[in-house]
Amino acid sequence: MMKNNFASIHSRKENGTDSARSLLTEGVTASVWTPDYVLRLRQNIHLCGCSGCDGASPLLQFRWNNHVRHSADISCNRAAAEILSLTASCTLSVSEDLAEHLPELSAERLQMNQHCLRLFAAFRTEPVLLLYALYGFIRQSGPLDPERRAALLETWLQPAGRQRLVQDFCLQQDEHGFPPVAGQRLEALPIWLLVDSDARLHKLKAMRKKGEETLRQTWRGLQKASRARRKILGNFLFYELCHNFFPGHLVPDWENNFADLCRRALSLLLLLTAVSPELDKESLSALFAASHRAARREAFS
Ligand SMILES: [Zn+2]
Repeated sequence: MMKNNFASIHSRKENGTDSARSLLTEGVTASVWTPDYVLRLRQNIHLCGCSGCDGASPLLQFRWNNHVRHSADISCNRAAAEILSLTASCTLSVSEDLAEHLPELSAERLQMNQHCLRLFAAFRTEPVLLLYALYGFIRQSGPLDPERRAALLETWLQPAGRQRLVQDFCLQQDEHGFPPVAGQRLEALPIWLLVDSDARLHKLKAMRKKGEETLRQTWRGLQKASRARRKILGNFLFYELCHNFFPGHLVPDWENNFADLCRRALSLLLLLTAVSPELDKESLSALFAASHRAARREAFS
């Protein structure tokens, strides 16, 4: 089914097994995917005592019979710092482990997540274009069977396919802008929960009341933003794809999951307009972690 190996994946096994192929093989072993931010967090795990982790490990594991996914809780300051790090490679290490008696992760779900990660590898330097590619891909893939989805992805990753995608994206940008902002309820973003209590975010106050055109400009601004800002947003998209197994389990949910992804990315984007990542990396990741904690408190209150 898969023709190419993951561009950004390398296998930790030394025996040269085809990692992309083994990812989709069902058998007695489980494929273990470990993003680079997890590897860095493991190196000095006890260094944080923020109110997100309280000194406990922010590392997480999602386990199935045939798959283990390592990740971390982004509401911990240190986890957020590693996830958003300007030097993050945004790669996955793939290894194998013995299967446990657990439910199985569906091969289709894993395959779609893998396809989206390959789109990430192809368009990672341009986050808005990446979102456009993800959106187009999940819309077209929904009704297709797994083999056609794989074939569609291969077409998109060919030079001609990429070129067509960029052209379509530019047309779309001129007409309506991308991503679609109609569903991105500006007032519901978690970042607002911090605006009144943190002086660094006061300049965002005025934006809260602005309408869709401001939102469109915010997304457009990202394309001209510094490399550091685009890198940080790209890192976050990598985290989202890994952590939430984007686009998710049920096809009818995919577009909603995409809209949620855009909302969370927009929250980070607004933060990037208030806090300069070049000057204050620590503040940026700590504030982003704090916005996730605030959103969680809000959800449970
Ligand atoms: Zn912490």
